[in-house]
Amino acid sequence: MANGSLRQQLSLLYQLQEHDRELLSLHQRFQTIPRHIKQLEDSVTKFKTDITAKSDELAEVEKSLRSKNAELEMNEVQREKYKTEQRTVTTNDQYTALENQIDYLDQKDLETEEEILELMEKSDQLKEELTGLETEVAHEDENTSKQKLEFLEEQKTLKERIDDKTKQRSEYLPKIDKELSKQYHNWINRRKTDFVSLGRNGTCGSCRLTIQPQNLKEAQKYEKLVFCTSCKRVLYVEPPSSDIPYP
Ligand SMILES: [Zn+2]
Repeated sequence: MANGSLRQQLSLLYQLQEHDRELLSLHQRFQTIPRHIKQLEDSVTKFKTDITAKSDELAEVEKSLRSKNAELEMNEVQREKYKTEQRTVTTNDQYTALENQIDYLDQKDLETEEEILELMEKSDQLKEELTGLETEVAHEDENTSKQKLEFLEEQKTLKERIDDKTKQRSEYLPKIDKELSKQYHNWINRRKTDFVSLGRNGTCGSCRLTIQPQNLKEAQKYEKLVFCTSCKRVLYVEPPSSDIPYP
């Protein structure tokens, strides 16, 4: 490679690296989108699960209420039976025995009525909580649908940008010397970091260390690849004259 062409090659390689850096960040963002959408869906699912649990609890309370009311009705029937018997008994003992049974039923009913009151309060409370949850889930549903659409829109835009960039890259890559391109890709694949480092004011742009004077002089000739002695990246240094475009 002639002097001019190596400098141009380094410039092209540096641009490729910038290009790839952007492509990588687009890819990374693109890959996070499904996770964001899943999080949104999970939050709605969580609300819906809470509603199901609350509804089940309410159904249980209402079932208990029905059975307590049925107990009261059965006791009422039994009480009437005892009272009818009382009219036909012949001894005081028999009468008192029936009276005790009736007292027992009355006592039982008092307890049941107490329990019914508690269950009714519980039922009212659950109904109120359910209404609250249903309002929240409706709100959440609306919110997440909107956000999900935004993410899908972003996903589409990112995909288009990635496709564009990838196409540009494939048009761009053949301009770069094969051997240099191979070194670049090997480095990137192995180290996942920049291969070309800009050298400005005698300093390596990647590791921030001073480029040794002899190295700097060599690099400014653009006759062969010069590597930073510290971070081992290819140095693309500022040309000695500001007429030459850089980077
Ligand atoms: Zn360095």
